[in-house]
Amino acid sequence: MVQPYKHEPFTDFTNEKEREGYLLGLKTVEGYLGQDYDLLIGGERISTEDKIVSVNPSNKEEVIGRVSKANRDLAEKAMQSAVEAFKTWKKVKPETRADVLFKAAAIIRRRKHEFSALLTKEAGKPWKEADADTAEAIDFLEFYARQMLAIKDGVPVNSRPNEFNRYDYIPLGVGVIISPWNFPLAIMAGTTVAAIVSGNTVLLKPASTTPIVAAKFVEVMEEAGLPAGVLNFVPGSGAEVGDYLVDHKDTRFISFTGSRDVGLRIFERASKLNEGQIWLKRVIAEMGGKDTIVVDNDADLELAAQSIVAGAFGFSGQKCSACSRAVIVEDVYDQVLNRVVELTNELTLGNPEEQSTFMGPVIDQSAFDKIMSYVEIGKQEGKLMTGGEGDSSKGFFIKPTVFADLQPNDRLMQEEIFGPVVGFTKAKNFTEAIEIANNTEYGLTGAVITRNRAHIEQAREDFHVGNLYFNRSCTGAIVGYQPFGGFNMSGTDSKAGGPDYLLLHMQAKTTSEMY
Ligand code: NAP
Repeated sequence: MVQPYKHEPFTDFTNEKEREGYLLGLKTVEGYLGQDYDLLIGGERISTEDKIVSVNPSNKEEVIGRVSKANRDLAEKAMQSAVEAFKTWKKVKPETRADVLFKAAAIIRRRKHEFSALLTKEAGKPWKEADADTAEAIDFLEFYARQMLAIKDGVPVNSRPNEFNRYDYIPLGVGVIISPWNFPLAIMAGTTVAAIVSGNTVLLKPASTTPIVAAKFVEVMEEAGLPAGVLNFVPGSGAEVGDYLVDHKDTRFISFTGSRDVGLRIFERASKLNEGQIWLKRVIAEMGGKDTIVVDNDADLELAAQSIVAGAFGFSGQKCSACSRAVIVEDVYDQVLNRVVELTNELTLGNPEEQSTFMGPVIDQSAFDKIMSYVEIGKQEGKLMTGGEGDSSKGFFIKPTVFADLQPNDRLMQEEIFGPVVGFTKAKNFTEAIEIANNTEYGLTGAVITRNRAHIEQAREDFHVGNLYFNRSCTGAIVGYQPFGGFNMSGTDSKAGGPDYLLLHMQAKTTSEMY
């Protein structure tokens, strides 16, 4: 019998054995640095001349690997292979499909430190952040496998005498999975396996900055027994392969996680009917955030400062859920701000391979440039309290940065920066703080630090975000515990790791038989 779902515990790196495990993981990854990886289409490995070169963001000289790049012809070949494989995969028993995920989870769990070390090398994740990414990938595999088992017999509906009605969920068809670099294992794996376990076949286009971890995951799925053609691996430029696959008449759904602008582009293109297309494409789009922590005057101020720092600077602020705005009720503004600055000045910035590093690099040169340009904007709009400096000579390092005295409508308080920058603004009272928290076009996560029960209830009703947290930071949702997805320009609110996520990849069929 399948055991009840429990999330994968985070590794305790104070334990010497675990520490050694991670260091061994790093050695394993170092043993395969610089290798070439192929496309996988219909079970066939295909190498191309044109490669995506993945580099270590902490050390630009270090090549993590080279991945063959799909062009339109190969994307088309992959589409046809997925169309063909769908004919048989959709008929494979849900239990068998779930077993592939359970086995993949077991394989990744055994190689947990290796995957985490690869995330450190390829995405610049410090130990704890990398470990959390790997744990989340395992969680998605374990959780979605169980969800499929839970819905495999459909949902009961009423039947009249001499009538037998059923309501069953069936798969949609071929899905295009487009994933971001910031959770290069968890989100890439989670979005892929949700589609697969529901009986669909997929084309996976990973982010071009982190394709190696995706290639390793695809190997795991093969080892776990996934039949050829169910998961086709087609790395390539978003603009070239992405548009082609989104537009394709045989694409039945698109599962996208990434920025607002690319999400909107996909949403729009997917709405156009192409020649030979006989359905309305479904779009799952999880996009950006501009997430706020609100601090009330009756609050544990140390907890507030700790939560802001953890939310703003964990993984260098490169989370859609990162705290990029702190809205503080005026009576406690100076106290919280000063404590945040103190805590920020204690953070260690450097090589994420060192256990003591809290914050590593940002992902690449264009992220570095974009974040530094926001630092300049911040200097015009507010008061730089700490940080504000970057160094991209060896890797892409930016100091954790705090701006004070911003106005709610300033660009720093409205636009997603996706880096280690947090802006502070003052509110007259709690009601105004919630109004400010709501005044962006996004609606992904938020947190409220307060001891006031009435204010908790007020925020529960009025703070309009998909994931709202009380007396903790706004990052760190756990699969199956805090289903994750946002409102407004943060996306379609498809709650990843939630009880209805798989249904987004399926359609319901009603059958009625007379006896
Ligand atoms: P991105 O630039 O939008 O890229 C995401 C994916 O889309 C990549 O695989 C990218 O490929 C691809 N892409 C680019 N142009 C495309 C096109 N025209 N058609 C189809 N695909 C295309 O986002 P990112 O920089 O990787 O990730 C950071 C963003 O993701 C942030 O905005 C963050 O808030 C958001 N995010 C949201 C969530 C959530 O759950 N809401 C979770 C994580 C991240 P290339 O890499 O080849 O360009």
